[in-house]
Amino acid sequence: MSRASVAGVSVDTRHWIGGARVGSADMFDDISPLDGTVIATVARGGAEEASAAVDAAHSAFPTWAATPPAERSAILHRIADGVEARIEELAQVETADNGSLLRSHRRGVMPRVAMNFRFFADHLLALNHPDFETRGHRNHVTWDPAGVTAIITPWNAPLMLATWRIAPALAAGNTVVLKPPEWAPLTASLLADITHEAGLPAGVFNVVQGLGVEAGAPLTADPRVRRIAFTGSVPTAQRVGAAAAVNVTPVSFELGGKSPLVIFDSADLDLAVDIAVEQFDNSGQVCLAAVRILVQEGIADAFRARFLERAAQVVQGDSRDEATQIGPLVSRTHLERVDGFVQRAKAEGATVLLGGEPNHVLNAISGGFYYQPTVFEGVDPAKEIVCDEVFGPVLTLQTFASEADALAMANDTDYGLAATIVTGDTAQAERVASAIRGGTVWVNCFFVRDLSAPFGGSGRSGIGREGGTWSFDFYCDVKNAVFSPNGWSSNG
Ligand code: NAD
Repeated sequence: MSRASVAGVSVDTRHWIGGARVGSADMFDDISPLDGTVIATVARGGAEEASAAVDAAHSAFPTWAATPPAERSAILHRIADGVEARIEELAQVETADNGSLLRSHRRGVMPRVAMNFRFFADHLLALNHPDFETRGHRNHVTWDPAGVTAIITPWNAPLMLATWRIAPALAAGNTVVLKPPEWAPLTASLLADITHEAGLPAGVFNVVQGLGVEAGAPLTADPRVRRIAFTGSVPTAQRVGAAAAVNVTPVSFELGGKSPLVIFDSADLDLAVDIAVEQFDNSGQVCLAAVRILVQEGIADAFRARFLERAAQVVQGDSRDEATQIGPLVSRTHLERVDGFVQRAKAEGATVLLGGEPNHVLNAISGGFYYQPTVFEGVDPAKEIVCDEVFGPVLTLQTFASEADALAMANDTDYGLAATIVTGDTAQAERVASAIRGGTVWVNCFFVRDLSAPFGGSGRSGIGREGGTWSFDFYCDVKNAVFSPNGWSSNG
């Protein structure tokens, strides 16, 4: 079977290699978290398919790299047009595949996918480092395409996260092999159709479907791959990094987080509660989620009462319903993993303020993988519930006395992806934003993202920054050419 009908949309479930659909003898089941049914059987690629995709990308590279930037930019805009024309189809398929809310795909995520292509199409044409002089010599900086780029992505926002890397890589003149997540592989296939219809030459963009160790690992070990952009978990990043080290292939790692939400006594309580409740979005399957809520003692009781009241009202249900605020977890395996964290925290003596188990009623009715929004208090800061990424709708609540305590608690983490601060004190906002650990810090706001801003984490949250020119710095071999004023000079 080479096609599946998902939410009425026909999706090719084969690979996309060298501008053609390619099947595999083996297939894997793609299960919808909304109801636990198999919605597609997808080609299960391995070393052979990965190598064929790198062949195609390698052959296509010289011509695409030499294509004038204005032409590359125009094709990326046409891809954005294609995404915009198919927002409803992409949204329906992504919701069926990973269980995220349909309305957020329609209104936020898929428009952002189109924007990823438009932004980098335009940014490419604006790339410019002014020439500068060294003892009369002219320095001229250029961003040269690096070559074949392997992009490996997770399931929590598959198309958005993939295109946020594909767009700058293609804009830069690189060719791409994408390995989509096996738990949500389908929108990548629709994107292949869109790139083809937009006139992207064969081999410039390729998709290899399959499991991580079978289809992803061979890409990371291939010496012809000159960039690896990996978004996913720390243990996988360690394997990808080890493979990349053999060929000294540059990597960009966007990994997990355990970000703090720090609420000071001077905070606007309504705002603090709104931001805290937002952390349940996408059932907590958000790398940036501020899952460690740290509240100053003076406001703690009022915050706890208001927050729990609001959190208890969060509507969990079918992600296709407009009224639903949070849907299921992505898979049964992931639900069991999340539940493992919760049950171990309970056994260690943490107090459950809300939730604390799968949503058995909804799971029995739907067949899906729903987990109750869960809040813990009385947690031991040395235990995994405070230290490790759960990646589910599970938040911890801790209190602090002073700003110094808040910073010590916020920064007591191996991760460093993001941090959110709510305070009514402007000077405090500046001080804490400067001292807190995190690649992105939000003050009195959350999830405001600009494609031209640097994005990435420190510590176990990753390596490198992407966004704006930072993306081109990664996907390109940046070159400085030094021109003598006399045509020839060996003066150092
Ligand atoms: P994962 O690490 O299990 O898998 C990510 C991808 O890697 C998948 O496509 C998988 O097939 C592939 N893979 C697995 N083993 C591989 C191997 N040996 N070689 C090559 N590829 C391999 O992560 P996940 O469970 O899919 O995603 C959740 C994680 O992603 C969380 O930790 C989350 O925080 C992180 N994440 C980070 C960001 C960010 O921007 N920082 C964004 C979203 C998700």
